[in-house]
Amino acid sequence: MVAVFGEELSKEFLIKLKERVGEVFSGCKSIVVKLHFGEPGNQTSLTPDKIRPFMDILKELGYDLVLYDSLVAYDSIRADSVKHREYALSKGYGEFGEIRINDDFAVKKGRYMDYEISSDLIEADGVFVISHVKGHPCSGFGGAIKNLGMGAVTKKSKGAIHNGGHYEFNKSACNKCGICETKCPLDFIKMGEDGPIFSDCYGCSNCCVHCPAGALKPNVEVFDKLLADCAKTAEDNFDKVFYVNIIKDISKLCDCEAHGGGIIAEDVGFVFGGSAVDVDRESYDRIVRRDGEVFLRENKKKGDEQILAFEKM
Ligand code: SF4
Ligand code: SF4
Repeated sequence: MVAVFGEELSKEFLIKLKERVGEVFSGCKSIVVKLHFGEPGNQTSLTPDKIRPFMDILKELGYDLVLYDSLVAYDSIRADSVKHREYALSKGYGEFGEIRINDDFAVKKGRYMDYEISSDLIEADGVFVISHVKGHPCSGFGGAIKNLGMGAVTKKSKGAIHNGGHYEFNKSACNKCGICETKCPLDFIKMGEDGPIFSDCYGCSNCCVHCPAGALKPNVEVFDKLLADCAKTAEDNFDKVFYVNIIKDISKLCDCEAHGGGIIAEDVGFVFGGSAVDVDRESYDRIVRRDGEVFLRENKKKGDEQILAFEKM
């Protein structure tokens, strides 16, 4: 299904959306909505008001709704299923249906590794993936691929993907050019007399991709490829799936941050489609066509590496 774009939620756009949703989820009784409830304090993530038009369509079509997110792997109330659920309810998401947060999974084989993918999503009649498009410190850009590639898996798989993209340093190959220092989005690399000194690593692989001497290589594979692989593996294991990207409040950082880092691009609109890669490609291209390389400027990554990787799959 080709991605469909709308600047606003016009009557025509919503009618077309409802038709497509009805076709894709034909025969479904209940739908699991995959979304990110946002880290407490974050002002740019999704809210009940932002998703209401889409939830209304699902309800008008007669589906029972479950709103689902996985547990995060860092220190947050969103790492605990009870607290995470209470938080989602406190934001008002309970008006749409049941809130379900857990780390239950089924193991599915990807191209680069196995992933523990949410069993709630895999066993769903249909999965409605609604994503906020914004920047991201590890992947430059975040949309539907990120929502599944990091958001549809357990804490263990989240950690494995980040570890898989973590640099491995071969000191003997290093020519001390200093390029890696300029490429770490999180400023974890400082050049010393003997070469780079690493203070930490979130596994984004950007230093590995740009090292001209082959002295830096990812543990398993480049982070963006792992992210795309995981999202594709999840998508391939869903019975029926539909995507909406909300390209508004485009922040520098992701919704996992208490502060999103500020707005970096003008609002664009909405995209829906049948694959994570289609809606992300459409979202990304529209932002970059109008505002230039915002993700490269803000996060040191072009941001479409994950989209290109998914397209190749
Ligand atoms: S980019 Fe590669 S060769 Fe250059 S300093 Fe960093 S590790 Fe060494
Ligand atoms: S640029 Fe290198 S050191 Fe910095 S987070 Fe990414 S992989 Fe780790």
